[in-house]
Amino acid sequence: MGKVDYHKLSLEKLAKQVEVPDGMVRLSGPLEHDNIVNGDGLRAVVWTQGCPNHCPGCQNPETWEYCSGMVVPIDDILGQLSKFKGQAGLTFCGGEPMVQAKACKKIADYVRKELGWNVWSFSGFTYEVIKEYGGEPWEFLKSLDALIDGPFILKQRDLSLKYRGSRNQRLLRLKHGTGEILAVE
Ligand code: SF4
Repeated sequence: MGKVDYHKLSLEKLAKQVEVPDGMVRLSGPLEHDNIVNGDGLRAVVWTQGCPNHCPGCQNPETWEYCSGMVVPIDDILGQLSKFKGQAGLTFCGGEPMVQAKACKKIADYVRKELGWNVWSFSGFTYEVIKEYGGEPWEFLKSLDALIDGPFILKQRDLSLKYRGSRNQRLLRLKHGTGEILAVE
């Protein structure tokens, strides 16, 4: 049997975006605010629905299905977010935000411009895969200040890591607008 090409497989998974009508996003749960475990400072959190990575040991397997959760107008999300006071930023969690890249970018651009927040995202895809794939996922990445990348790997689980579950995952500080990596933590 040939060796599995994980890189190629990741590119194929990333190509399968969640299908939602324009102006909508599929979420796995309600918005959060004052969250302190998914990034620096007090943060709002958007929980997206749909993940193709299926990491063994994932804490949110109910977010994998592409067709469950709830489809919500992006304008409703923006309205709710703008009512949250005292937040340093917004973090996209999943599910896999990169498979709803277009909708997530729209939300990211709004909170940066209108609310002055920084924007982070988790992704089970690596920075390198997202960059090579390009398109909407790369455009979304360029709208971020930080990306926590890579799948959760049970064998590398480490509860002492800040914001991350396993040692392969990286906290990448990014230059907004270009996606350039400024620092790796
Ligand atoms: S990428 Fe995240 S949500 Fe998706 S299976 Fe892995 S740990 Fe779960």
